[in-house]
Amino acid sequence: MEKQPFYLTTAIPYVNAELHIGHGLLFLYTDVIARYERLFGKEVVFLTGTDEHGQKIARKAEEVGKTPQAFVDEMSQTARDMLQTLNISNTDFIRTTETRHRAAVEAFWKRVEERGWIYKKRYGGLYCVGCEQFKIEKDLVDGLCPDHKVKPEYIEEENYFFKLSAFKDQLLALYAERPDFVVPEHRFNEMKSFVAQLEDMSISRAVEHLTWGIPVPGDSSQVIYVWFDALVNYLSGVGFGTDQEMYERFWPTVTHVLGKEINRFHSVLWVAMLLAAELPVPRQFVVHGWITVEGQKMSKTIGNVLYPKDLVHTFGLDGMRYLLLREFPVTGDGDYSADRMQRRFASDLANDLGNLVFRVTNMVQKYCEGRVPARGARTAVFDHDGFHAHMRTYRFDLALEFVWQLIAQQNRYIDEMKPWALAKAGDQTAVDDALYSLLEALRQVAWLIRPFMPETSQKILTQLGMTVHGTETWHEVAEWNQLVPGTPIEKGEPLFPRLDAPHA
Ligand SMILES: [Zn+2]
Repeated sequence: MEKQPFYLTTAIPYVNAELHIGHGLLFLYTDVIARYERLFGKEVVFLTGTDEHGQKIARKAEEVGKTPQAFVDEMSQTARDMLQTLNISNTDFIRTTETRHRAAVEAFWKRVEERGWIYKKRYGGLYCVGCEQFKIEKDLVDGLCPDHKVKPEYIEEENYFFKLSAFKDQLLALYAERPDFVVPEHRFNEMKSFVAQLEDMSISRAVEHLTWGIPVPGDSSQVIYVWFDALVNYLSGVGFGTDQEMYERFWPTVTHVLGKEINRFHSVLWVAMLLAAELPVPRQFVVHGWITVEGQKMSKTIGNVLYPKDLVHTFGLDGMRYLLLREFPVTGDGDYSADRMQRRFASDLANDLGNLVFRVTNMVQKYCEGRVPARGARTAVFDHDGFHAHMRTYRFDLALEFVWQLIAQQNRYIDEMKPWALAKAGDQTAVDDALYSLLEALRQVAWLIRPFMPETSQKILTQLGMTVHGTETWHEVAEWNQLVPGTPIEKGEPLFPRLDAPHA
C-alpha cells in the first residue's frame, strides 16, 4: 500500500547572523511533528534550509570581506551543524541560492505575472535595509525604524508590484472556511485583522541597488524581493518547476512551522501569492512564540544569547530536547531559567524516568533471573487517546506532562506493590505479574517519548530486548503484552547522569 504523503517545513533562517536557540526551537518543534507523523506510517518529507539572498546579506558579506556566495556557504553550513547537534530528522535541506530553487521562483513569478497580478510602478519611499522593507511615516519612531534604530533611506525607483490588496476578500473567505488554518487561534486572529488593511507591495529592486538575488524573469534590470523569492522554497522543496510527479504527490499536504514575527509573511503574503498563481494553499500554519532569557530579551549586547550546543553540553542531547519542549509551549512565549531547567532535569529525568527504568530493570535482575517474566493479569493502564489529543493540537508540553503522569503512576505502583516484599514472601506469580506490567509500561513510555527523545527511547527499547524496525505505528505499539517472556533484560547505565557529571 502506498504511504500517505505528509509534507512539513520549517521557516528557513535568514543567515545574516549566527543562529541561536530560537532557531533551535523552530527545528525541534518541527522535528517532533515529523517523528510523530512517521509513526502513523506516513511518508514524511521534512524540509528545512537557509534563506540567502537580499541586501542585508550582501552588506554583511562586504563587512566581513567575503563574497556573498562565500559568506552564505559558510553560514548555511552552521545551520546544518545545528540540525545535527539537535538530532533533527529533516529529509531535505534547501538553499535559496540553489538552481532548483531559482527554477521554481522563475516558474512561479511567470505564473503570477501571466495572471495579471504583477505590475510596474515608479515608487519613492523610506526603505529600511534592516527590514528589507519600505516604511511609511507611522511605522517610524522619532524618524527611526523601531526595530533597527536607524533612519530609513529615501529611495526612488521603478519596481514591480504585487497586487496584494486584491486578495483581501479571498483571504477572509478562506480563513472563515478553515478554522484551524493558522494555530494557535490568537495568532490567526491577528492575521484576520491585519488583512483588513492590505496594500500592494513592491516585489523587486533595481539592480543598481541590489544585485544579490534572483533576476526578474525577462527583465535583468530588476532583482526579486527577498521574501517573494524565499517563500517559494516551500514549492522548490517538492519539485515545483523541476519534478512534477513529486510536486503533485506532496503539494499541498503541507504544514508550515514558523515564528510569530513572520506570521504575516506566511499566512497572508504566501497564501495570497499562491492564490495569485492559482496553486492550492497549504494545509496549516503552526506559529510559535519567542524566548526570553531570565526575563530579558536575548541580545548580543547583554551577552545572554543562548546557543543549543551549550545546552546539549549541560543537559545532554535528549535532556536538552526534553527540557525545551516541556518548558516552551508552541502556543506562547517562554522564558528560559537555568535554575528551573536544572530542577526539572533532576525531578523529571534523573528522578522520575531515570529511576523508573533503573528500578524496574534492576528488580527483573533480582527477582526474575534477568528475563521478562510470565504475562500476568495487570493490563492496559495507558490511555493513548489523551496523548494524541495533545499532539494533534501541538501542545507538546501537555503531551509530555501526560506521559510523566503515566511514569509517576508506575513509580507509585512499585511503592504500593513492593515486589521485593512479594519476592520475600515467595509469591512469584504476584512478582511476575507486577514486573511484567512494569516492563510493558516502560515499553509504552519508550514509544510515547520517541518523537521527543529518540535516543532515550531507543536505549530503553534496547534494554527491553526489543528490536526497532522503523515501520512500527502508534496503533501497533499501543497493544499490550508485546514483550516476550524469557527475553533477557539489560540493566543498563543510568539514562540521565547527575548534572555535575560531564556529558559525553
Ligand atoms: Zn528596520
